[in-house]
Amino acid sequence: MLEFDPHVLDEKPVPPPEEFSKRAHVRSLDEYRKMYERAERDPEGFWGEQAKLLDWFQAPTKVLEWDSPHAKWFSDGKLNVAHNCLDRHLEKNHNKPALIWEGEDGATLQFTYAELHERVCRFANALLSIGVKPGECVTVYLPMVPELPIAMLACARIGALHSVIFGGFSATALVDRIADSQSKVLITADGGYRRGKIVPLKDTADAALKNCPTIAKSIVVKRTGHDVDWHDGRDRWWHEIEKAASKDCPAEPFDSEHPLYVLYTSGTTGKPKGVLHTSAGYLLQTTWTTRLVFDLRDDDVYWCTADIGWVTGHSYIVYGPLSNGATIVMYEGAPDQPTKDRFWEIVERYKVTIFYSSATAVRAFMSWGMEWIDKHDISSLRLLGTVGEPINPAAWKWYFEAIGKNRCPIVDTWWQTETGAIMISPLPGATPTKPGSATLPLPGIIARVVNMKNEPVPPGETGYLTIQKPWPSMLRTIYGDDERYAREYWQKIPGVYFAGDAAQCDKDGYIWVLGRVDDVIKVAGHRLSSMEIESALVSHPTVAEAAVVARPDEIKGEVIVCFVTLRSGHSPSIELRGLLMEHVSTTIGTIARPADVRFCDILPKTRSGKIMRRLLRELAHKGGISGDTTTLEDMGVIERIAKTQGKEEE
Ligand code: ATP
Ligand code: MG
Repeated sequence: MLEFDPHVLDEKPVPPPEEFSKRAHVRSLDEYRKMYERAERDPEGFWGEQAKLLDWFQAPTKVLEWDSPHAKWFSDGKLNVAHNCLDRHLEKNHNKPALIWEGEDGATLQFTYAELHERVCRFANALLSIGVKPGECVTVYLPMVPELPIAMLACARIGALHSVIFGGFSATALVDRIADSQSKVLITADGGYRRGKIVPLKDTADAALKNCPTIAKSIVVKRTGHDVDWHDGRDRWWHEIEKAASKDCPAEPFDSEHPLYVLYTSGTTGKPKGVLHTSAGYLLQTTWTTRLVFDLRDDDVYWCTADIGWVTGHSYIVYGPLSNGATIVMYEGAPDQPTKDRFWEIVERYKVTIFYSSATAVRAFMSWGMEWIDKHDISSLRLLGTVGEPINPAAWKWYFEAIGKNRCPIVDTWWQTETGAIMISPLPGATPTKPGSATLPLPGIIARVVNMKNEPVPPGETGYLTIQKPWPSMLRTIYGDDERYAREYWQKIPGVYFAGDAAQCDKDGYIWVLGRVDDVIKVAGHRLSSMEIESALVSHPTVAEAAVVARPDEIKGEVIVCFVTLRSGHSPSIELRGLLMEHVSTTIGTIARPADVRFCDILPKTRSGKIMRRLLRELAHKGGISGDTTTLEDMGVIERIAKTQGKEEE
């Protein structure tokens, strides 16, 4: 992988806003560097020191035991994760709002720390009353309602693992994941609201449970109140068993390495993996990163727009913010329901100060236009974040100006389900940012861009993103499959963690994640990242979003095929297609000139909003799809793209 890429090195750093730095937890690049060096010199001393952020029932004397690829962090310590997220705040923050919830239908609820604590204790007792034991796995299949974090924290309180399955998944996806985790209990709801309609979760769960012999009990939240089938003996209403349970549920101490949850990855790359996270290390790194990366302070109103069905919701709606005693906003529905300004209305209503969203959402806001934003006073915002995919520089700049009003730092956070917490990100008061780069690894994280022999590649060359040393919130294994864990993450580049992403490191040490290794395209011997070409397309004023894949070609090896969605107010034409091809070729070079540009109304995405280039690759290559599509957001999209392709060729 040896292409020099001046494009990536071009961006000029944007210094942190002065006013922001003055009050920040980390106030200068120099301060960051000192922390980084201290952590690099003595990782165990560093993490041992950070561990004081948690409330321990028995403080650990050990920090790390590393028997590659298996890590134990703080192994002789004991704590309770739910106690850290709730009980320890009660004295000071009894009446502070912990959770502000808004349903898509306009319903609202607020819970203080005391109220959330009581709900969690009651439900923890309810789980105990139906026989849930420490170490057992409870499957949670809920919409974005308060019962979802309550269920997770109740499991944590009694030492049961949770496996949260995103509420948009089908019965088959549910069956596979329940079989893998061997859960005996399922928590679901009659339904939830999405895009103004009821998502009938219980119907889907009922269909799944026909093929889930391990499940003995199902607890059902009443959200929509519509009629549902009932299986006596198996089904129980949440509100009934919660009411019958005592609110007195002391938090028991558990070992640091006691399993906390299993979470199946979003599936961009194929068969989902059950990523296992354990208690103390995970909680420590989510707590610490929430504080530093979001520069959290006591009076913040923090909103992460992710779905709790994904790791971002686990780490940065539930565990990280609550462990810090923050006030969090949680929203049930779609961003364009009933209109495309729903998010800005929520920001205005609750005076949100920290807004953490995905690159794909930012591109959607950009394509919808300013009219939706200008209607609202969003001046409470002071920090913006993004995650999930590389953010194209044009989208970054738009986010900075249109939402942040040139005042709010942006933290572009790189991490994965497997890493559990943020790994590479600016510290908002310290790190000058470069649009499109997640910037520098956090203190304690040794990230490097290397070749297959683990040799660092020079600035501007593409290599593999690796983490060289274990970190507290790392996955401990793939549930039930140690061998796959070792093979996928620790053996490809022997001895270090292989993230599966392609990246470059520039002369300032800034890391530019280019996307998955599989998404790198080879044209006439040159390696190009799909991300770069997509960024060139997105920088064109007509383009909202782009996905670029390779199609095998007899002469050039591979040629570039672009799938493009347009911003509102623009429509496809032969001329525009030519213009876009020209635009890519002048922005990056003639080598990157696309062989084809195809217009589509939307791109195929995972349910977590990531573009599924794997499917587009197949489509560009064979004209159809045969691979696994269970994680696809909109099943019809591939068919529609295939159809328009046919038409354009006629
Ligand atoms: P699967 O592993 O099943 O294919 P997934 O990788 O999409 O699913 P996640 O763990 O949610 O599931 O996503 C992590 C990936 O998202 C990273 O490996 C990277 O490709 C991408 N990513 C996340 N944040 C960023 C970021 N800030 N910049 C660039 N890429 C990012
Ligand atoms: Mg992944």
